[in-house]
Amino acid sequence: MGKVWFVGAGPGAPDLITVRGSRLLAEAGAILYTGSLVAETVLEWASEDCDIADSKSMSLDQVTDWLLDRASRHETVVRLQTGDPTLYGVVAELARPLDAAGIPVGIVSGVSSAMASAAAAGESLTLPEVTQTVIFTRLSERTRMPETESFVSLAAHGCTLCIFLSIERIEMVVEKLGEAGWSSTAPVVVVHKATWPGEERILRGTLKDIAARCRAEGIDRQALILVSPALGARGRIGAQTSKLYDAAFPRRFRPERLPGEAAEDPASDAN
Ligand code: SAH
Repeated sequence: MGKVWFVGAGPGAPDLITVRGSRLLAEAGAILYTGSLVAETVLEWASEDCDIADSKSMSLDQVTDWLLDRASRHETVVRLQTGDPTLYGVVAELARPLDAAGIPVGIVSGVSSAMASAAAAGESLTLPEVTQTVIFTRLSERTRMPETESFVSLAAHGCTLCIFLSIERIEMVVEKLGEAGWSSTAPVVVVHKATWPGEERILRGTLKDIAARCRAEGIDRQALILVSPALGARGRIGAQTSKLYDAAFPRRFRPERLPGEAAEDPASDAN
């Protein structure tokens, strides 16, 4: 009996899968991926005789049956997920029947599209003294939000928001951000197909114009919405400098130490 690995494919570029993930693709006897979501270029790591299938038109039960069947025939079976498998994947639902059948399951992290989108746009999701918190969320739709996680209440924190699965309803996102207290001039970045070879698009706007810009560009799926007071910090004159680079701030991992500086500062784990 084989083992089924849920592997994060990363956001799109084939060299953004982890080394561990690419090794598992090369070893796999069978790979199941989601055609519309995972960039097929990532499959270049698979061996030539690998049994590869697209789950785009399969139901959850069919996916389960496929994985159970292939696990009875191959030592290594990979379920390839976009970004990181632990975010908005259906790992728990798919792993349950495998657990019940006694098939071992492993999960391999991937670069989430949230990180890839920030990197593509050249942005940092945190900025000292401005925001030190990132919320990964989405609008509720078919998947209902738990009551304590209403989009407006989360957005009201004013920290960085990485909004998944909501670009189709960007107007609603904008409306709710306004309700939560974001100003109409707040910067918003939308990244479509971050790192997909030849397909990445980055739109910068404000709360006021981002929805119209997305519509004008025809961006209505596979995009991440970034809202943050940290956006555009590189271009702002006089923006805060991280304490990390302040000579007076002790850092645990800095090789050179200032005279009299303690060897290790337990309060600082930034690197
Ligand atoms: N597990 C994935 C998220 C899957 S949910 C991850 O960690 O990234 C699917 C949503 O992710 C899409 O609706 C979109 O909001 C976002 N997404 C996935 N790939 C993306 C990409 N390459 N660029 C921008 N957004 C992406």
